[in-house]
Amino acid sequence: MKAHDGMYIDGAWRPAAGRDTIAVVNPADEQVIAEVPAGGAEDVDAAVRAARAALPAWAATAPAERAARIAALRDVLVARRDEIAETVTAELGAPLPFSQAVHAGVPILVAGSYAGLAASYAFEEKVGNSTVYAEPVGVVGAITPWNYPLHQIVAKVAPALAAGCTIVLKPAEDTPLTAQLFAEAVHEAGVPAGVFNLVTGLGPVAGQALAEHEGVDLVSFTGSTAVGRKIGATAGAAVKRVALELGGKSANVILPSADLAKAVGVGVANVMGNSGQTCSAWTRMLVHTSQYDEAVALAAEAAAKYGDRIGPLVNAKQHARVRGYIERGVAEGARLVAGGPEAPREQGYFVSPTVFADVTPEMTVAQEEIFGPVVSLIRYEDEDDALRIANGTVYGLAGAVWAGDEAEAVAFARRMDTGQVDINGGRFNPLAPFGGYKQSGVGRELGSHGLAEYLQTKSLQF
Ligand code: NAD
Repeated sequence: MKAHDGMYIDGAWRPAAGRDTIAVVNPADEQVIAEVPAGGAEDVDAAVRAARAALPAWAATAPAERAARIAALRDVLVARRDEIAETVTAELGAPLPFSQAVHAGVPILVAGSYAGLAASYAFEEKVGNSTVYAEPVGVVGAITPWNYPLHQIVAKVAPALAAGCTIVLKPAEDTPLTAQLFAEAVHEAGVPAGVFNLVTGLGPVAGQALAEHEGVDLVSFTGSTAVGRKIGATAGAAVKRVALELGGKSANVILPSADLAKAVGVGVANVMGNSGQTCSAWTRMLVHTSQYDEAVALAAEAAAKYGDRIGPLVNAKQHARVRGYIERGVAEGARLVAGGPEAPREQGYFVSPTVFADVTPEMTVAQEEIFGPVVSLIRYEDEDDALRIANGTVYGLAGAVWAGDEAEAVAFARRMDTGQVDINGGRFNPLAPFGGYKQSGVGRELGSHGLAEYLQTKSLQF
């Protein structure tokens, strides 16, 4: 894995305007593995100009040609799959098998889905005496987080390319090497110069400059609610489009008729995967009072089994933050049945898989996004109580419902204020729209709904 000391702008690696750098740290052993340039407003401006200049020609390309470029990009990601997995493991810390399957595997699926959609989407339709065209929004400023570093890039760049938009990407400071590798892949796929540009840098510097740039037509952001709010306000003031994928505190609702052991086992695994750094993780497990003690025992056992297979958290700040939340849980009266705030290893930002029992809905660990391997078991008395608890946070990103009968689970899921629900452990679908109700965000990613975010409509009357 090699680090570029420049920015990918207008089809080439160019030196940054300034000399500041960002040190990339391997969270498993705390060693610096690379330095990348910390770009500023000047770099962002050069990238946005390149994207603007490339826009008319790319927007005018036939959808089949855009589909061919995205398919080529997918093929490069396939060919470089091992390198992608190793890079994500080095800078995020995810265990290699998880990086192989998820961090490298899912972006391949998503890129493939947009190669198909670019070719098949109805960019033109007849409505009465009108023809309605779906046209690209323009230049996209994409700001992405570190937790699924390649997936979150591909979930923005692939639909933007399919729509005919051009892009400037500002990836998270913790995972810039994956973003540089992606820029190489875009280049290899033959995407024309200026259509995709990469500026590495700090959020409040390069990220903010991108969000504020008047040459950007749409800001697509994934990350914390605090920053999302700021970006939304900036975009609102400039009357530009914005898409926000923010935090979550999703509920895993286990109805009494469910297969309890399976629901608890899958539920714990859902939280522990990626060390709990998943915005859609089901971090609140809701169990009927009659099955509560059994569920607690099953969850503690499942977390203990996870043991050493868990990777570290991404950085020292998240390590301190997550351990602080665990201490807060104990202080507020939750009962630790697995894990705890102590660091299990001397080196690396590790936290043990942690299970809290006797959590009440208003506790901090049941309300705030922890972003670590911590699951809270909450008891409910009846279905209405479960629904009140499930809907009782400011978030609404995802969730799960388990029941003996699918129809029973669906009826409950339809009453949840959330954007995506897995029924009895439903499989990941890269074409299903993903995004939040309430403070979990604005807009949708993936599939045709994700593509529509990058389109605007024009109607001609005859
Ligand atoms: P963050 O919101 O600070 O960072 C996300 C992206 O925004 C990064 O690229 C960052 O550089 C950029 N950014 C930061 N400040 C900015 C600004 N003022 N203007 C423009 N861009 C800016 O998130 P974080 O600090 O990496 O993580 C903090 C918390 O956010 C986590 O603990 C977690 O709760 C949440 N989070 C959620 C997701 C998600 O997928 N929903 C992903 C990562 C983090």
